[in-house]
Amino acid sequence: MISEKVLKAVTAGKIWSFHGGIHPEMHKETTSGCLIEELEIPNILIVPIRQTSLSAGEIIVREGDRVLKGQPLTKIFAKGQIPVHAPTSGTVKSIGFYTACHPSGLKDQAVVIIPDGEDEWLEHKGCSNFTDLSPEELADHVTEAGIAGMGGAGFPAGYKLKSAIGKTEILIINGCECEPYLTADDALMREKSDEITDGIRIIQHILKPKLTIMAIEANKPEAAEAMRKSIQKAQAHIEVRVLPVRYPTGAARPLIYTLTGIEVGYDSRSNDFGVSMHNVASTYAIKRAVIDGEPCVERVVTVTGGNFCKNGNYVLKNGTLLKHLINKVGLKNNKAVHIIIGGPMMGFSAPSMDTPLIKTSGCVIAPDAKELPMAGDYLNCIKCGRCQEVCPSRLVPYMLLSHSRAENIEGLKNCNFKDCIQCGCCTYVCSSGIPLVMEFRKVLAKIKKMKDEEKSKRKSQELIAFRTERTEREKAERQARIEAIKQKTLSSETTESKPQTSDLKNEQQAKAVALAKAKAKAMQQVNAGEKQNLDPAVSADDPAARAKAIALAKAKTRQQADAVEKQNQEKQNQDPAVSADDPVARAKAIALAKAKARMQQADAGEKQNQEKQNQDPAVSAEDPVARAKAIALAKAKARMQQADAGEKQNQEKQNQDPAVSAEDPVARAKAIALAKAKARMQQNKELDK
Ligand code: SF4
Ligand code: SF4
Repeated sequence: MISEKVLKAVTAGKIWSFHGGIHPEMHKETTSGCLIEELEIPNILIVPIRQTSLSAGEIIVREGDRVLKGQPLTKIFAKGQIPVHAPTSGTVKSIGFYTACHPSGLKDQAVVIIPDGEDEWLEHKGCSNFTDLSPEELADHVTEAGIAGMGGAGFPAGYKLKSAIGKTEILIINGCECEPYLTADDALMREKSDEITDGIRIIQHILKPKLTIMAIEANKPEAAEAMRKSIQKAQAHIEVRVLPVRYPTGAARPLIYTLTGIEVGYDSRSNDFGVSMHNVASTYAIKRAVIDGEPCVERVVTVTGGNFCKNGNYVLKNGTLLKHLINKVGLKNNKAVHIIIGGPMMGFSAPSMDTPLIKTSGCVIAPDAKELPMAGDYLNCIKCGRCQEVCPSRLVPYMLLSHSRAENIEGLKNCNFKDCIQCGCCTYVCSSGIPLVMEFRKVLAKIKKMKDEEKSKRKSQELIAFRTERTEREKAERQARIEAIKQKTLSSETTESKPQTSDLKNEQQAKAVALAKAKAKAMQQVNAGEKQNLDPAVSADDPAARAKAIALAKAKTRQQADAVEKQNQEKQNQDPAVSADDPVARAKAIALAKAKARMQQADAGEKQNQEKQNQDPAVSAEDPVARAKAIALAKAKARMQQADAGEKQNQEKQNQDPAVSAEDPVARAKAIALAKAKARMQQNKELDK
């Protein structure tokens, strides 16, 4: 930031003297008194979409479109870009590559418009009360209006303003126009002083500087006077400072040093030192953009030189071809025409008459043979050092020349080549007539080409990396989607199957419960049957007889149950419903059948006993207790006798059986056991009978 001491000195009007510089012949007299004139609308306009050192926007019109004056032809999509607008109403004839406004003569993309002569504006609206807008809004508005630095540098004014918000202590409005021949800014200051003052006030509102200085070289007294009057009328806080004439006072770094004593470093920006600078023509364009709502579609151009028939300052539309200008103003000598776009020090020779003029083209010179001789043969460098003496950037131009010819980029770097402002002072004073600036531009073009190639290579690599990454990402996303679908399908299947499992479980539980109930019921019935089978006579006092009777009754009941179960099992196996696959239903059916069979057996057993009891005369006595006792005793006795008789018979049979009477004790025991079991079965059957 600027110290109080420096600010005080600047405010007091102190001027510093920069190193070097020259005093060339100015050749301004032929146009400095001319009024600004409108030139007839050309019959064709070729509007390059790139008009600054930065990248171009995207074309938003198509062939055949009718466009109105001020209609955007491109839209910006990246920082640093500015749009271009239709300079007049007409039709888009074509979009293609045409000769660019560049010393290389290379082609660049442009929109060709055939004007309809109406010069009809697109509906637009200005903002006279610009203080209602914020600094950022105003800066954006300037960008949208497509204003480039019109002093020649071409840096977008809107971005320059925005980057300086909150950083500016001293604002400099550059009206020096130090290069020979140029008087366009002079004419603007003389004729458009009020509008320039409004433009300065807009910039002041955006940047809010402590001090605003308008710098004008002493060779423009009328312009300085006009500006003073306008500023006084507007009661604006702007100081007009008249500076000594010396080239290149109007270049950014020399002017900042002249007014503030601050030397802006090679890789620094003036914003870093609290200083912001804008050209007079840019300031005028900012006023028209903000207050009138008009984008930058034209500019004042000094048309001068001994070969032009009519010199002057003309308003030329953006995209006007040199040949149209020449047709309008005329040439004295049509042979060996040499046209310079820009000033004689910093401009370049037009590559062709089809070269379009753009926003940064402030001057067109058609010198005669005596004025500015074409660069011819030159001598070798004699190391006289004159070039070094005049270099405002304190460089050693002959060293730069040597490295440039050798294309020694490292050597150029070491000599601070970046600091060369291409002012042309070295060329102007060279003892050997060496076109040093031309050599510097050649190598600059090569460096730029290399950088562009590197950038393009990097972009390609980034694009490839991006595509690879995108392909991988899409692949991963696709895989994830597939997995998600799989998961979803699986979960829905699980969800659907859950109730089935649950239902099945419930069903199985219900069946199990039913089966358990049926079993319990059957057991109750069996027990009941056993009780019924138990002869009441056995409940007598003889415990041995009673135990035997109970055992027999149980055996009988179980035998009956087994027989019934066997029958049921056979039935169930025959029953198609029960032999179905459902094991639960099958088990249930079996249990029910068993229970039913036991019920039947129990009923049958009870009935038989009842009948027997009813037939026995002893039991038919009147005393029920005695009767029951008698029956039970009789039954037990009968069973004992039967059991003994059966066992005896079996024993006899076993003894008669040759197999059982064999010497093998195991076979014998087995045969005996079988015979006994058989006998018991028979006894039981007989008892049942
Ligand atoms: S002025 Fe020309 S001759 Fe002299 S040192 Fe510089 S380049 Fe060489
Ligand atoms: S053109 Fe470059 S090297 Fe030559 S005087 Fe200007 S700044 Fe110095």
